[in-house]
Amino acid sequence: MDDLKLAGISKEKKHTVIEINGIKIGKDFVVIAGPCSVESEEQTLKTAVAVKKAGADMLRGGAFKPRTSPYAFQGLGIEGFKILEKARKETGLPIVTEVIDARDVSWVCEYADVIQIGARNMQNYALLKEVGKLKKPVLLKRGMHSTLSEWLNCAEYILAEGNPNVILCERGIKTFETYTRNTLDLSIVPAAKEVTHLPIFVDPSHGTGKLSLIESMTYASIFAGADGIMLEVHIEPETAMSDSDQQLRPEDFEKIMNKIKKLKQSYDTIVVEEIG
Ligand code: PEP
Ligand code: MN
Repeated sequence: MDDLKLAGISKEKKHTVIEINGIKIGKDFVVIAGPCSVESEEQTLKTAVAVKKAGADMLRGGAFKPRTSPYAFQGLGIEGFKILEKARKETGLPIVTEVIDARDVSWVCEYADVIQIGARNMQNYALLKEVGKLKKPVLLKRGMHSTLSEWLNCAEYILAEGNPNVILCERGIKTFETYTRNTLDLSIVPAAKEVTHLPIFVDPSHGTGKLSLIESMTYASIFAGADGIMLEVHIEPETAMSDSDQQLRPEDFEKIMNKIKKLKQSYDTIVVEEIG
């Protein structure tokens, strides 16, 4: 991957650390949690308070939802961003939220601490160039049909515009497997670390689409060397307007959070031998 002028790893640049409100992405293990969609003030605030209590570092929630069907819930838009603003005020958690249209980047910035580019927009070059003009951190999800090289070249688009704050996020790829929603490619984590200095997160919620698989894939992500995790949590998953099958209840999220802390400590004591 010779053409990664900015995203590529070098002797001088091995790890990027991105600081948001004292949280050091690329250094500390960071947990982003929250609902798939912002649905109402009550649902978002209750979920935000619960994930904060469980120890999450940042709050996620979509106000623009890129849905497979045009008739499915598309998100609350501006109303949703105002709810996220309240949640930030109430909990102090920085907000991670998606933008799907280059024309909205400038005003969504006022509500987002991290701008998410979703899997479907990974190669939306106009959008990448627009977020590249900012200094605000960008969480770039892996396209569902994308190779590591294609993904890192999209990160390069953002970096080349002048924004050095890019965080990668693996969220599963399409394979012939149908049991899971996507195939979570955990080997991409150490693979990415061989070629880029950018931090990399894993999203086991979209990566598996199945509640029963999220816990084990979360722990596996730590041991794959991920810099953080993104988990969908909903105060009442069965009523969720999107992704109701994969959103954790706050009490289950709390159990996972407690184990994450222990597993991260044990991961840090293990020296991964360099083979090959
Ligand atoms: C999301 O995180 O809200 C989302 C839509 O995920 P993805 O872009 O990975 O499908
Ligand atoms: Mn979702």
